[in-house]
Amino acid sequence: MGLKTVQEYKESLKDGRRVFYKGERVADVTTHPELSVAVETMALDYHLAELPEYHDLATVYDEALGERINRYYYLPRNGDDLLKQFDLIVASTRMGDGFIPLAHDIGSDALNAISITANMMGSQEYIQRIEQYRTYLKQTDLAVVTAMTDVKGDRLLRPSDAQQNHPDYYVHVTQRRPDGIIVRGAKVHITGAPYSNEIFVIPSRAMAEQDADYAVAFAIPVNAPGLKMVGRPFHAHITPLEFPNNRPVRVHTDALIIFDDVFVPWERVFLCGEWKHSATLVYNFALMHRRTGCAYRIPMSEQFLGVARAIAEYNGIASAPHVREKLTDLVIYLETLRSMARAACLDFVTYGGIAVPNPISTNIAKYYFANEYHNVVKIIQDLAGGLLVTAPTYKDYALPELQADLERYLSAKAGYPAEQRLRMLDLIRRITGADRETIALHGEGSLQAQRMTILAEARQVIGECVKMVEAQAEIKKA
Ligand SMILES: Cc1cc2nc3c(=O)[nH]c(=O)nc-3n(C[C@H](O)[C@H](O)[C@H](O)COP(=O)(O)OP(=O)(O)OC[C@H]3O[C@@H](n4cnc5c(N)ncnc54)[C@H](O)[C@@H]3O)c2cc1C
Repeated sequence: MGLKTVQEYKESLKDGRRVFYKGERVADVTTHPELSVAVETMALDYHLAELPEYHDLATVYDEALGERINRYYYLPRNGDDLLKQFDLIVASTRMGDGFIPLAHDIGSDALNAISITANMMGSQEYIQRIEQYRTYLKQTDLAVVTAMTDVKGDRLLRPSDAQQNHPDYYVHVTQRRPDGIIVRGAKVHITGAPYSNEIFVIPSRAMAEQDADYAVAFAIPVNAPGLKMVGRPFHAHITPLEFPNNRPVRVHTDALIIFDDVFVPWERVFLCGEWKHSATLVYNFALMHRRTGCAYRIPMSEQFLGVARAIAEYNGIASAPHVREKLTDLVIYLETLRSMARAACLDFVTYGGIAVPNPISTNIAKYYFANEYHNVVKIIQDLAGGLLVTAPTYKDYALPELQADLERYLSAKAGYPAEQRLRMLDLIRRITGADRETIALHGEGSLQAQRMTILAEARQVIGECVKMVEAQAEIKKA
């Protein structure tokens, strides 16, 4: 019981789960040549908690259990709790060279969102169930991911709309039994699911009365009968065309999860038919998770600033006025994101007895980094020059008959060999790929989702501003 070791985490994945990857059923994710790389990425969360220098950040004394537990499963009561968890996500993402391990953070966002929703509903039964489940997670330190995004079908139609091709585009209850429920449907893009222990399943939208069966939230083990996962392919290794690099590759797969009449016992059901509260749960999860998403992006933005400055230096242009302007933009990007996201934790509000980051500044921080992301990548691509896509490969560089030529012609500023420049270009290609651009836009919800929340949350501020200017204009209301 208590904190899991890296080894215990890996052993826990050998449980008969049904994972498909590149057209094959995977017998064991921990030994699969590619998925095992993603397992190592998730294992970083357990590794970090074992390191003495991170012990106080990664774990916390739990008064109820009388032992140290993983900080992610600790109930946040104030801004300091939120900020420490934020700093933990930043630390683990830095350890992953800009890649988030993801064993606990997204799961803990759903855990807290469900707790808040149960408290807001005033349902003692749900409050008790989610707190029992929280205790179970504190005691077992399981890796938990969250499946929110439904496959959705026609986006403009409701889940139960008869015009949808079929009723299963959103996960829903098909049967209520004395011992639990049966669910069917599919969730998509679920990061890390094939090598986590449990999955929180929550609705992806507000529901109307006719969608009551779709207002369902629960937790299940990844090896639950009827559950199938299909992982998207990824690059698990440095290719032979890149300069050899002994740092471990960090990567995740995002899975399509099919719920083929899966049984969920009542004690793991946290919403079932209370359609009015679906929106509350979606809102609270999005809020918690956007704060988490901002934390992921800080080490990534540090990487962007680092590679931009380094390649500008190697190219000899670091002191050019337009380059200094562009580096200034990257500093503004990093520090705006960092300060807004940290301030959102300190300027917390309390929902259902749980501290949550300030809703307006969290959504603006997440929107800001996603909306500016492509401009930031554009700056790096600009500074790197065309060699970013036309450079000879490592295999060419390694040829004795070519190496001296490539060193002679592909070096730029004195003191920086061509190898250094080519290695940096390899890294830039890895961290600015098109999949990362899509993640920036859609991870934690599309841009429009944040804009809608910002406007809704700003209702009161807008009202106060209008009152202020009406007073200044001496407008008398009838
Ligand atoms: C790499 C990656 C990892 C992810 N990891 C997870 C995860 O772990 N768990 C999880 O639950 N989700 C995850 N997501 C899902 C992510 O939150 C969604 O991608 C995002 O919410 C957008 O949903 P979608 O992909 O279905 O796109 P769509 O909803 O199809 O959006 C495409 C466009 O359609 C618009 N649109 C959609 N619906 C409407 C509507 N009703 N009216 C008007 N416009 C509309 C959107 O604004 C957007 O412009 C991940 C996504 C990515 C890319």
